[in-house]
Amino acid sequence: MSLGEFDLIAKYFDRPARRAALGIGDDCALLAVPPGMQLATSCDMLVEGRHFLSTVAPERLGHKALAVNLSDLAACGAEPLAFTLALALPHADEIFLDGFSRGLLALADVHGCELIGGDTTRGPLNICISVFGLVPVAGAGALLRSGAQVGDDLYVSGVLGDARLALEVVRGTRSLADGDFDAVLRALEKPQPRVALGVALRGVASSAIDVSDGLLGDLHHVLQRSGVDAVVEVDALPCSVVLRAQPLTVQRLCSLTGGDDYELLFTAPPQHAQQVAAAGIASGVALTRIGRIVGRSGAASAAAGVAQTTLVDHDGRAVVHADASFDHFRT
Ligand code: ADP
Ligand code: MG
Repeated sequence: MSLGEFDLIAKYFDRPARRAALGIGDDCALLAVPPGMQLATSCDMLVEGRHFLSTVAPERLGHKALAVNLSDLAACGAEPLAFTLALALPHADEIFLDGFSRGLLALADVHGCELIGGDTTRGPLNICISVFGLVPVAGAGALLRSGAQVGDDLYVSGVLGDARLALEVVRGTRSLADGDFDAVLRALEKPQPRVALGVALRGVASSAIDVSDGLLGDLHHVLQRSGVDAVVEVDALPCSVVLRAQPLTVQRLCSLTGGDDYELLFTAPPQHAQQVAAAGIASGVALTRIGRIVGRSGAASAAAGVAQTTLVDHDGRAVVHADASFDHFRT
């Protein structure tokens, strides 16, 4: 006999609450917010065929579903607290549920982020997670997209472009040796949210965003919100050795517009350079300065209020690249 809805929840998702005042089992969960802190919350949906391939291992899918949400908390400098899971499943497939819940809860445990509730229904595979994190109300509070200032340095964590390279291989437009493919596929399927880095950058970075739709597109959101422009040194973009071995056009396509990187892109004033480096070391993540923030340029763009990113090579010469960031309704 197949598993019913409530048996399924009890077997795979219900665990004793430790941080929440009340977890799974009632009509609402209860979360206490300590004095001086506020809740940061975000929600991300993963749809089969759109955000993941049907071939992905359930354990990795569970990991990624939570990782993309934790990445949003990281971008705000929030410390993870709890999450809810809304799950539509075609049927109660126990092999799937076992792997999915293991991947999901293993990452949850790493970050002390507790599953406190959700909803389960039959339907095309669809995973929707809402996360809740804590961030101070005042002082070194939430990192926002709107804080970039003229003169700030622009940084990115980790490396860019591997997830996109993996997608190109899956689509059959590029090929890689097995070991190299495994490495980039891991970047696509098992991203590591930069939670500790986000927290360490509170009071240090002036703005931040996580790179989910491609560097140029996500940078554009920061620039629009902050009312500034940017200069990005394309030769400074951090890439893995696997991506470095690809033709320059592929390197640039993947690192500038790839998406699914889940690295943090942030700005900080030059006088914070040492604190930025310390935040990278403390959180065990490589940080690279990739450019700087400049004032709005060009009468036309200033009038239209549209931010511009100028790409330059290591000699400062302009590099032309079409901004083709991911957009669900255009791609
Ligand atoms: P309600 O009818 O009030 O929406 P349900 O009967 O759907 O509640 O769910 C029972 C309990 O199980 C609730 O506490 C709910 O938050 C929790 N729950 C349901 N689905 C999930 C899930 N996929 N993961 C975690 N908790 C879940
Ligand atoms: Mg209810």
